[in-house]
Amino acid sequence: MNSPNTKTAIPYNRSRQAREAETMLDHITDDFDDNPAAMDYFYDLFRRAYCQGESLEREGVRVGTTCIHAPEELIYAMGATPVRLCNGSYHYDQIGADFMPAKSCSLVKATLGMLSSENVIPKVGKLDLIVNPTTCDQKKKASAMMVGMGHKVYNLELPPAKESEQARLYWQRSVREFVQQLRQITGKKLTRKNLMAAMARTSRAQAAFRTLHNFRRKAPSLVLGKDVFLVTNAYFFDDIERWTEAVEKLNAELAQRDQDGFCAAQKKAPRILFTGSPPIFPNLKLPLLIEESGGVVVADETCSANRMLYDMTAVDEWLVNDMVDSLANKYLKPCTCPIFTNSDDRLRRLVELAKSFAVDGVVYQAFSGCQVYEMEQKSVAETLNKAGIAMLYIETDYSPDDMGQLTTRIEAFLESLKTRKRNRT
Ligand code: SF4
Ligand code: SF4
Repeated sequence: MNSPNTKTAIPYNRSRQAREAETMLDHITDDFDDNPAAMDYFYDLFRRAYCQGESLEREGVRVGTTCIHAPEELIYAMGATPVRLCNGSYHYDQIGADFMPAKSCSLVKATLGMLSSENVIPKVGKLDLIVNPTTCDQKKKASAMMVGMGHKVYNLELPPAKESEQARLYWQRSVREFVQQLRQITGKKLTRKNLMAAMARTSRAQAAFRTLHNFRRKAPSLVLGKDVFLVTNAYFFDDIERWTEAVEKLNAELAQRDQDGFCAAQKKAPRILFTGSPPIFPNLKLPLLIEESGGVVVADETCSANRMLYDMTAVDEWLVNDMVDSLANKYLKPCTCPIFTNSDDRLRRLVELAKSFAVDGVVYQAFSGCQVYEMEQKSVAETLNKAGIAMLYIETDYSPDDMGQLTTRIEAFLESLKTRKRNRT
């Protein structure tokens, strides 16, 4: 028997972070009928990684990334494995709140909270390097904190604008320096052959994602947004080949659903485009609330899904230096994150997605404390309004406390979209 002073370690599956993940997975799986059979791979992966604490540790060098601007093809080419560290847990958000300013974004607080903890999920093992693209102010300042926690951090310098020639050259130089950094860590040289092989791996994954993305255009819907966000969140840490095969299987099932005239949501469910701060597991509360309230998320413009996987690399010359420059371009030019000075691309992209996916309305999530998303919502609302598309702006964080209030607002928004549609027809 333990003496009163002996601390008994809590079994992993009873820890707060595991229960938080389990609650979200239970909602995702049990609150909906007819989940695709191919989604079992992803449900099981998240249960093993997040609820049972199964180790995802792999052989070789592991490189943590804190944003989509870190070129993963270079990491793969040098024989290392990337893992995206952006975290969605309220438990880690609260740990981060102990040392971060009160008005910080939940994503940054949770990521730092996780990195400062011992019992980290998912269990990716010791990181040999964290590459931190210098994006928003909070991510920039997070760098010194990560170093203070004992991590080796490389700041990948990103320009604040992306249109100018200076910005392009500045970024290409940053990416080339990143190659040198990777060489020091891995002891390997970047060659045309290993870079081509790495690009083939990510292209196959992206092609699978694009097929999935295109299935979401269908009306009635073949798949719900809560499942698509789970699929893209798995890309953060899963083995890339296994992930790609699982998405290809899901696509095959959706093709069959299409032939059978299957409908994953109610026929008249308002079609929603999701934009803003990224839904990151287990914080999928907003997409889930939309679909539990009778809407269906058919498209997104976020860096945990579409923005992370959609844009392909266009290579002019298959010589290693040109390939690195082409990769650099892919990670800068098409990115629609509001950290850049000019928001024209993001506005254009949103209108284009709204039209091509025949959406009825847009839901814009901004994490409290994220100034760039908060500031840009006004111009996004105006642009969408001019295009005749309604938008609901929601400022929230990882806390479950606002669920009741959010449900009321989402239900009212979906009702207004239905009325609008009825009046039009
Ligand atoms: S919101 Fe922008 S800066 Fe933050 S992780 Fe996503 S792409 Fe990177
Ligand atoms: S949501 Fe905003 S504050 Fe948070 S990481 Fe993204 S850009 Fe930075």
